[in-house]
Amino acid sequence: MAGGVSVSVIRVKRIRPTRKEWAFLFSADISLPRILGVFGKLCEYEIFLLGRGPRKGMAMIISMKRHATREEIDAVTSQVNHFGYKVHSIEGEERVVIGVVGVGDVTACLESIEAMPQVENVMRISAPYKFVSKEFRKEKTLIRVNGTLIGADEFVVIAGPCSVESEEQILRSAEGVAKAGAKLLRGGAFKPRTSPYDFQGMEEEGLKLLQKAKKATGLGIVTEVMSDRDVELVANYADVLQIGARNMQNFVLLKALGKCGRPILLKRGLSSTVKELLMSAEYIVAHGNPDVMLCERGIRTFETVTRNTCDITAIPALNELTHLPVILDPSHATGKRSLVPALARAGVAIGADALIVEVHPAPEKAISDGAQSLDMPQFAKMMEELKPYIELWKDSRRNEFVSVAAG
Ligand code: PEP
Ligand code: MN
Repeated sequence: MAGGVSVSVIRVKRIRPTRKEWAFLFSADISLPRILGVFGKLCEYEIFLLGRGPRKGMAMIISMKRHATREEIDAVTSQVNHFGYKVHSIEGEERVVIGVVGVGDVTACLESIEAMPQVENVMRISAPYKFVSKEFRKEKTLIRVNGTLIGADEFVVIAGPCSVESEEQILRSAEGVAKAGAKLLRGGAFKPRTSPYDFQGMEEEGLKLLQKAKKATGLGIVTEVMSDRDVELVANYADVLQIGARNMQNFVLLKALGKCGRPILLKRGLSSTVKELLMSAEYIVAHGNPDVMLCERGIRTFETVTRNTCDITAIPALNELTHLPVILDPSHATGKRSLVPALARAGVAIGADALIVEVHPAPEKAISDGAQSLDMPQFAKMMEELKPYIELWKDSRRNEFVSVAAG
């Protein structure tokens, strides 16, 4: 095998029926299987190659030369398919970039594609998460939600109650947060509750109320979906589907989001690593939906002063590892309304693209998460206090765009 050592797993089975004996050998030398093959025949053993050999899971990016023609792109695509890989995406007009994934003959495929005259270069993506990695794409993914662009040069605030509780409650919430400058309304109609005896959400009735609130205020809707069975239903009402912390690794649900036609707000699991969060995002993108936003909402630690421990470093870390927009939820990260504004400021300062904040017209009466919900005046005050931070955020965003453009 050209350019490297391949690890092959070899299963050896004795042919004689009375003494079935299995062994596993590991070879770090590509010539060993052949030697063993000969040896096996001599000794009445059958040798099966189980290992991956040169057939490997891989992702790569093929950059075509400037102004490649349709026929040239098609020729590369069919060569990719010939080696067992799938073309995942084709982007760009002047310079086309082809994203490839799958399992196939890695080396042969790379060598063959590199040799095609219309190909500028081929790059293998080394991160385990492929499409969401910075290696795959340097520029931020911009996600348009109901006229608001997330990931660009506007800092976006999503706000609203934990749960949709009544028409009056959601309408008052929507009007209040819109007036204070929020661009999207949050509110759960399907609620993941630790206790089966707690309020589980208004379900479709709640979705209808969210739609009313959208009509009244123009705010786009962010709401949670908990099951793959409800994806279509929720997508009919929502502008963004939220995947809660408890469902971050619900892989059946993640796969179903690939074709839902709505952007996703994916929350980090209670005990999940940043890498696991990225792998979950990869599920959604690999299944066909590139519009994923990642949300830090605090993780479980030994600390009990706050409901969760905000891993604030996850935000710049994610900005380094992925091109997807990053959102901070200071409400679930703290569990205490008194701490929310300070953490929100930290989120802006550290480079999040947006905040998602729980706000309730009467937090003391909230059915869920009242203790961490701001009331309307508190939310308006927080938004005011964020302004100078957002100005600084805009300056640094402009500089980032300049440096990405400069390559
Ligand atoms: C919520 O947003 O109300 C919620 C349940 O969040 P999380 O999944 O982060 O706990
Ligand atoms: Mn909540």
